[in-house]
Order: sequence, then C-alpha cells, then structure tokens
Amino acid sequence: MSTKRTLQRPDGFEEGASRPVVPPIQPSVVYASETPDSLDDQYEGRVQGYTYAREGHPNAVSLARAVARREGMEQGLTLGSGMAAVTAALLGLTRAGDHVVGGDQLYGRSLRLLAEDLPRLGIATSRADPTDAEAFAAAFRPETKLALIEVVSNPTLRVADLDGIAELCRARGVTLVVDNTFTTPSAIRPAEHGADVVIHSVTKLLAGHSDVTLGWVAAKDPAQQKAMSDFAVTTGMTPSPFDCWLAERGMMTFDLRFARTQDSAERLAAHLAGQEGVTKVLYPTRADHPDRNRAQGLLAGQGCNMVSFEIEGGRAAANAFTKGAESLAFAPTLGDVGTTLSHPASSSHRALTPEGRAALGISEGMFRVSVGLEEPEALLGAFDAGLAAARAARG
Ligand SMILES: *Cc1c(COP(=O)(O)O)cnc(C)c1O
Repeated sequence: MSTKRTLQRPDGFEEGASRPVVPPIQPSVVYASETPDSLDDQYEGRVQGYTYAREGHPNAVSLARAVARREGMEQGLTLGSGMAAVTAALLGLTRAGDHVVGGDQLYGRSLRLLAEDLPRLGIATSRADPTDAEAFAAAFRPETKLALIEVVSNPTLRVADLDGIAELCRARGVTLVVDNTFTTPSAIRPAEHGADVVIHSVTKLLAGHSDVTLGWVAAKDPAQQKAMSDFAVTTGMTPSPFDCWLAERGMMTFDLRFARTQDSAERLAAHLAGQEGVTKVLYPTRADHPDRNRAQGLLAGQGCNMVSFEIEGGRAAANAFTKGAESLAFAPTLGDVGTTLSHPASSSHRALTPEGRAALGISEGMFRVSVGLEEPEALLGAFDAGLAAARAARG
C-alpha cells in the first residue's frame, strides 16, 4: 500500500518488539481497501474490515465489546448517546401499527419519545406501572410489539417486577427492552432475567466522569441487533472515537467506583433518615422501602449509588438546601465521580402538573442524589450543612 501513497502519512506506529498497554484512538473516518473484490469480501462478512466510520470504527467496537462482556451478552452497539440507544431500540424494532408499552416512570426523554414521537409515526403507546406485573400486562394489546422498562425508577427508586414482566413478554411474544443505566451490570444483568434488549446511557456510571455522551444497545437475537444497527447507521447515531476511548478508560475503574459509591450511598441514606426535617428517605435496601424484598432478590442485596430524600418546607427550603450544601454540584445528571444533586420538580419532572408529580410521590422538597467518590465523612458533612440551611429557612 505504501507505494500508492501520494501524501505523507504518519509513520512510526508499528508495534515492533513491544506493545502499548493503552488502546489507541483511531479517528479515521474512512478506510482504504485493496480492490473491489476485497471490498465485496468485507461487505459480505467474509473478512473483517472497516469502511466508513458511521458504519463502525475500532474504538466503538472495542467499547461495545467491553460493555457486552459486563452484561454477559454476545454483541452490542455503541451509539452517540443513551437516547440514541433508546431510539434505535424503539424505532429499529417497530413499525407503524405496532403498540409499545413503557414504564410510567422512565427517563424523561424516553417518556417523551413514547408520548410524542412514536405516535406521530403511527406507533401507539401506553404507560403502565412496572412494579406490578399484572397492571403492566393489562396495558398489553394484541398488537403490542415491545415493552420498555427501567429496573429502578427515577427519582422514587421503585424496583420493577422484572421477572414477572419478562414472563409475560415471553408468553406474548413481546420484545422486552430494559434500560440498565441506573442499576448497571454490577447490580443486575437484565439479559439473565429475560430481557431481549439491554440499553445503557454510557454517559452515566459506566464512563463515570461526566465528560462524554454515549449510549449502548444490545439484542440477544442477531436479527434484532442488525435491525437496530442498520437504523442507527442510516440515521447517523455514530459515536466519536475519542469519546469511546475515554469511556473505555472510565470503565476500567467502574467496579471500584461502583463499590465505593454504593457504600457511601448506604451510609448517606442511614444518616439522612435520622435528621430533623427529613420526611422521607428512599433507598432500595432500606427496611422501609416498599420494594425491599424484590430489591434483595433482583439486585443481589445491592442498593446502587442513588438515594432520594424529601425535606420539609417546600421550594424555599429546597433553595436553601442547595445553597447550604455548596460543595455538592446541583446538576441534573448521575454517575459522576463527584456527588450530584437533582431536584426533580424543577428539572426532570417539571413538565408535569403539581398533581401529576404528587401522584408519583414527587414534592418540591424532594431531591435525588447520585453519590460520588468524596470522602464519606465530608459527604455527610455537606448534607448536614444543607439541612441546617433548610431548617434556618423554615425558621
Ligand atoms: C441519562 C439517561 C438516558 C439518556 O442518556 P443520554 O446519554 O443522556 O442520552 C436514558 N436512560 C436513563 C435511565 C438515563 O439516566
């Protein structure tokens, strides 16, 4: 090939007698082949080879395999965002005339996709409570094709009856799609509980540093995987090689981060529960959690890194809390190395009416915490400072 070069290309990256311990970044958009015949071989899958980065590139494939290994799945696809992954599953696997059932407390944009975009394309949708398999099944219709749930809901941290819903989906030939972003493969591998398709917002805990936006989606059935992949390539859901590389680096410390933040989350939940002015603490392994038994079984006794709690005093106390807890980032994400605090009533659930929020148990005093890697005592201290400020605001 070198004799065909007309431009100077970088040289000196050969492996030689040693090898790099860090994976390379391959930003090339296009890949040169030898002949039309060899391109045929590539397209027909007789030999491996890349052609054009929108159709796949080494860093995306490497990251997809890393997530697939954790999920215990054979294949997977890296996409430009978690919402790209949700969209690839919902639109790649359905057609006009189909019906889709979604959990009633999904990620906000997933809910919007179900409520606004799918119906616009002729795909009917319903929402149902995934903590109750019977209620969920009641939403099924003869034309129901796909169901989308999250294992632990945002922000009330209810635990879905995954096994019950998987059984119903299997019996009715409905494709079960599980968004495992909150729970991660450290707590549960949905494919082992009957999920047909598994989704991640890699942006969150897997990448873990709030510096990339990425998604991942995988199907057990190769035909479904191909359908999602074709849809994603056509609609341009391509991830950046550099982002994929960063995410894979982040994943190398995922187990350590998850174990540490889960420990701290448990401590934080216990600490908050004893405080004056705290009216509710939600954490899946707590004795007073409504789905504790299910969490013990499904999540193998793990509660993950998310804690929600409610304080007295409404919006005024909530404003005082975020100001008082100044060392915590009041920012609507999760899974960062640092603790982040979100206020669902003013962010993820602001489009709902106060009554709609009340029906989900979301008040003006509710916060959702994504626990990070801070020294645990310092973390508890930051919450104490917020609570003291909220108490002062109540007078
Ligand atoms: C953040 C999130 C998404 C969307 O992911 P992006 O990477 O932000 O597009 C989907 N599902 C869940 C549960 C999320 O938390």
